[in-house]
Amino acid sequence: MSTYAYFNGEIVPLGDAKIGIMNHTFNYGTGVFEGVRGYWNGKEEQLYLFRLKEHYERLQRSCRIMTMALPFDIPKLCDITVDITRRNAHREDCYVRPLAYKDSELIGVRLHQLNDAFLIYTAPFGKYLPPDRGIRCCVSSWRRIDDNAIPGRAKVTGLYVNSALSKSEAMLDGYDEAIVLTQSGTVSEGSAENVFIVVDGKLITPPASDNILVGVTRNTVIQVAREQLGIETIERSIGRAELYSADEVILTGSAAEVTPVSEIDRRPIGSGGVGPVAAKLQETYLSIVRGEVEIYREWCTPVYPKS
Ligand code: PMP
Repeated sequence: MSTYAYFNGEIVPLGDAKIGIMNHTFNYGTGVFEGVRGYWNGKEEQLYLFRLKEHYERLQRSCRIMTMALPFDIPKLCDITVDITRRNAHREDCYVRPLAYKDSELIGVRLHQLNDAFLIYTAPFGKYLPPDRGIRCCVSSWRRIDDNAIPGRAKVTGLYVNSALSKSEAMLDGYDEAIVLTQSGTVSEGSAENVFIVVDGKLITPPASDNILVGVTRNTVIQVAREQLGIETIERSIGRAELYSADEVILTGSAAEVTPVSEIDRRPIGSGGVGPVAAKLQETYLSIVRGEVEIYREWCTPVYPKS
């Protein structure tokens, strides 16, 4: 089956959506993007895009920081995203990638006086990290880039060099994922996930000011933990050794969903398996995203017309 992309204002075959080698974002990493998951609900024969609006709200904030303009308002961007995803006729879990970028073809690093462009593509997508056994992490030798270097709260393409360095170091050293510290040495986030720890039945997560990307999944987990599990989340800086001594450590992200961590730097976390808070949060999250929990249905945008 053919796959399509939204490119230069129209839906085109994916293979025709091409940028030139002088493209500014390709050369300088000046784009901003989102990663949205689509969840297939086989019983309803429906595909749900999870928290689409919130992803576009973040894209808009990223654009402000990078002095870019999106071509449409958020409702219209959501409609276009549903259109292109429907066109690709996914009947499986998938990933949707909106990307706003600097389209000019010229030599010169800057943000101003460049053309802004926007594209969306979609692809089938399974699990990003092993969901069941609890993953093995290391504290990265790379540090998270500082807000005054490249603002981490903006999802900037060039910023992902920092993620790629830490992810590959971790994987080539035999771990599943990296946890990255801030310049001052407190916990920031995973290479593509936010970090929560559980201590004495409470969730703790670093604040936005610790150079994290403020995750849509992070917000979801904070709300669902409070409303469904009666667990409050404290936002405060977390020291490296607190990771080792925590009862549980959990990574969250659109790709990573809710992933329990069983080991960090060869130290078992808690009992070394999947903790009870992680297990419950993961189970609840995975039913919410498929549209199975009525009160959170508004977070799930259906792609196909209701039969
Ligand atoms: N931090 C980074 C660096 C990420 O790339 C991601 C994934 N987008 C996250 C955190 C988690 O964000 P979200 O829950 O919005 O996917």
